[in-house]
Amino acid sequence: MTDTVSVDLGGTWLRIRSGERTERLPSPSVLRQPSATPDQLLRELIETLDRYLPPGAAVNMACGAALDEQKGVAHGSGPLWGGTPAGEIPLLRLLESHRPDVRWTLVNDVTAGLASFARGFTRPTDRRIAYLTISSGIALRIADAREGVIPVDALGLQGEVGHLRAVTSGPDTVRQLPCACGGIGHVAAISSGSALAAVASALELPYDRDSFGPALESGAPGASLLLSVVVEPIAELVRTMIALDPRLDRIGIGGGLAEGLSEMYERELCSQLASVRSYADTSLTPERIRKTIYLCRPHDIDTLSGADDIAAGRLRVSKL
Ligand SMILES: [Zn+2]
Repeated sequence: MTDTVSVDLGGTWLRIRSGERTERLPSPSVLRQPSATPDQLLRELIETLDRYLPPGAAVNMACGAALDEQKGVAHGSGPLWGGTPAGEIPLLRLLESHRPDVRWTLVNDVTAGLASFARGFTRPTDRRIAYLTISSGIALRIADAREGVIPVDALGLQGEVGHLRAVTSGPDTVRQLPCACGGIGHVAAISSGSALAAVASALELPYDRDSFGPALESGAPGASLLLSVVVEPIAELVRTMIALDPRLDRIGIGGGLAEGLSEMYERELCSQLASVRSYADTSLTPERIRKTIYLCRPHDIDTLSGADDIAAGRLRVSKL
């Protein structure tokens, strides 16, 4: 019998699940090892996986990288490999050449998150569903729930919104924040978990990712301002998504930062969405916001099972 192993390669953690057992190891990522080169990190990934994979295993791996899932080619990842990579990374080929006995299925981790969200939270009436992750990076996927399809472009991409310019009313010190990809003022540079300490510092506030939640809960000075600044680019993005697609019935928001702040994040996001700024916003009623937005709680989303679901064809990634 073939052993199935599920893997989640994030910027912070590498998780490997085999049967009932899940190992959590520090990721071989530039986030963890800022001085390492992509080649060194990839070699470490391959050697680590090698130790955990039984001969002939089927491996479903969710990767925190912009990925062409059909070709197994990575286009890059700020948290994993840092700024502009030297072209594409032939991830599938590298893995296959080291372990040809393994049957590899590579899935973008947001695609896997969407599959998990779809399984747990789709209502029968939902036409299109989205999953937006706010963790060490930021990205989005949208599926047509009725067709069971996640459409992608010719490069295999969809929803790489983390590296768009952020819409922000923050001061210049915030607008000019550098992004892990090498750009300036991107959504990920303001709204991601890894950006939080830099945004706080740009606002001359003393918080980091660990101290921010408790500071918010206790009403510490400036904490609610920091929350409104990091949520704003996300609220603008969600407002745009809803304006562009009237069939978008459900948007799940997950990832470590959003899930960690949970109700506080949800309250801020929904309150920013509810502000009516023109006649265009009149259909964005509090009831529609409540029906559309779902703020994921820790453990709602399981990217390991999501990768298994994609490998099993429960949602199909399609270039057509
Ligand atoms: Zn960027």
